[in-house]
Amino acid sequence: MRAGSTKLIEILNCPSLPSLPTVAVQLLELTSDPDVKMKDIAQLVSTDQALSAKVLKTVNSSYYGLSSSCGSIDRALGYLGLNTVKSLVLGFSLVETTALAGDQGFDLMGHWRRAIMGATGARAIAKQLKLSDPDEVFTAALFQDMGMLAAFTMLKTEYSGVIDDTPHRIVCAAEQDAYGFDHTEVGEALAELWKLPKDICDAIRYHHDPDKAQSGDIAMVRAVSLGTLAADAMSSKSSQVAIRRLESQSIAWFGVSSGLEVEKLLEEIAESSKTLAKMFDQDIGEIPNPAMLMAQAQDKGMELQINAQKQADALAREAVTDGLTQIANRKRFDTEIGALFGEALSGGRQLAVLFFDADRFKSVNDNYGHAAGDVVLVELAKRATSVVGDGGLVCRYGGEEFVVLLPDKGVEEGERIAERIRKRVADTPFDLSSVEGVPDELPVTVSVGVSAMDAGEPGRLDNPAELVEEADKGVYAAKSAGRNMVQVYGRFTTIDLGGSKVSKPSQPQDFGASDSGNNDPFIHGNTLLLIEDDALAATLVMSLLKRKTKMAIQWISNGDEAQKILAEIAESQQNPYSAVVCDLDLPGSNGLDILRAMRGIEALDKVPFYVVTANDDSDLGKLAEDLGATNFMNKMDLSKDLGAWLNLLAGADQSSGNRAA
Ligand code: GH3
Ligand code: MG
Ligand code: MG
Repeated sequence: MRAGSTKLIEILNCPSLPSLPTVAVQLLELTSDPDVKMKDIAQLVSTDQALSAKVLKTVNSSYYGLSSSCGSIDRALGYLGLNTVKSLVLGFSLVETTALAGDQGFDLMGHWRRAIMGATGARAIAKQLKLSDPDEVFTAALFQDMGMLAAFTMLKTEYSGVIDDTPHRIVCAAEQDAYGFDHTEVGEALAELWKLPKDICDAIRYHHDPDKAQSGDIAMVRAVSLGTLAADAMSSKSSQVAIRRLESQSIAWFGVSSGLEVEKLLEEIAESSKTLAKMFDQDIGEIPNPAMLMAQAQDKGMELQINAQKQADALAREAVTDGLTQIANRKRFDTEIGALFGEALSGGRQLAVLFFDADRFKSVNDNYGHAAGDVVLVELAKRATSVVGDGGLVCRYGGEEFVVLLPDKGVEEGERIAERIRKRVADTPFDLSSVEGVPDELPVTVSVGVSAMDAGEPGRLDNPAELVEEADKGVYAAKSAGRNMVQVYGRFTTIDLGGSKVSKPSQPQDFGASDSGNNDPFIHGNTLLLIEDDALAATLVMSLLKRKTKMAIQWISNGDEAQKILAEIAESQQNPYSAVVCDLDLPGSNGLDILRAMRGIEALDKVPFYVVTANDDSDLGKLAEDLGATNFMNKMDLSKDLGAWLNLLAGADQSSGNRAA
């Protein structure tokens, strides 16, 4: 049994639990019968005079826009249909159940503000996107947070203490922390108790985590969730982020062509929630002007776009160049060979590939230091480029491995060029005079593998990777035959590939942060774990950091995946990460959940954990820092000052190095 379930059961058995007024209960019973007669429903609702009056007043308000006024529930049912009337009866019944809570310290205004705006928003979205039943969606959205009311009724100020300073978006985490369950579970249980339709129960259960909804009306769960975003968009504090999310999430769920018109939506919420709040007799506070919110969102968006474009242009140039040797990098190689291989296959053109690898390079680093190793790599690139000239492209494949692309050249010519590269390297020792404390000159050799379209049977190759692999096998053949030599695919002289080495994975870079001899699982690693669902932000971070720090970066975009990784670390006691940058708003587990999990495995004092968010929310920041985050930062600020990212992460890089030292 889960830790929280006893308490949950206690809540659900509490005699003071809010209950639906009898009319609503009977209405739900009646409408669950498919053969129900409208006449009977009208009669039932009319037995409650006060309720019918409220329903009629609402039906005649601008929210429903009837052309002529309607004087009886019977007619209302005829004009608007069963579901609309039902949604209003349920709405009014819910209002009744909450009347007391406000006197006792529950933020009733905040509750109804969110509920009414969320419900009018969800209904408008369902209409715009032509989803099945806007009124059912309305009811589901209106009821989504009733679990909070129930929890408050039972736990009183103890509960309000837990949720008080927590923004609603992440309130579930606070509830889970305190009780082992959250208001979506309470709400669902209560909705079942009240015999609300299954779709509505599901929507209540999954409104904070719509991707988990499996059965039933998933579109309804999503519409409710979008409605909540729309309500957030109407609160000036979180507006810009919510508008962006609303746009991207509706496209992700309902497709580009579904075309949610956000400004129109916000206008409708502003208008209808005023009407509805009046009908429900609730004060929901000031309602901001939608046009102004949209304009602000666009301003911020433009600013971000321009910044991002400038960065992207610069990065695009640098993205294909290797930082150390200033020759083409692996990415450029992959692009070029893709195109050339395609032309070779379809147009019958030639293409040769050379692969070369410095011999015993590790010992250069070991004996003379990394700086000397770097000088050798730069010089290797220079010498190979001087041999190849305009006839091909020399690329740094990774580490001390290089590839050369030779368009329109066959295997014979490839072999000749390979031999010239080998000779140009081996014949003249490398000049190390720029490095202090090492000999001025150092002999260097390379092993070269060659392959080409015509190096074997025509038609044997399906993709460029296979051609590269053939050249790579040549390198291994050359190494095992004694190094400092060229081997051509199809005629290796000494072949001892011994199975496992046939296809060599590219080697991870060695960053020099030794982790040997230390048993603390959290003191090693040179990888930054980036948990971020915004692809633009992630791309910027990765491109920048790859150039400026020595950390490798692992990017994941889902909070649940991050949780899995932490679980693996906890289990294996092996931590490959030296820092974590984590977005707050994530699909699956959110940033605070992940932070808590880090705390749970006692990793926070060893690995810096930076929480970033696009939201201007200092409460969240405080919460994150209280939970042990190293720092809490606003993405908007960071994107304006990209240097801040670098300083921050370069700091982490350094400190992980220090830790390792
Ligand atoms: P072999 O002849 O079998 O290729 O031996 P090797 O020592 O060259 O082989 P190995 O692949 O084990 O070593 C490659 C070394 O290259 C390990 C790593 O430290 C070094 N290395 C990789 N990238 C860089 C770099 O950017 N700078 C420096 N200085 N060294 C690098
Ligand atoms: Mg080597
Ligand atoms: Mg190597």
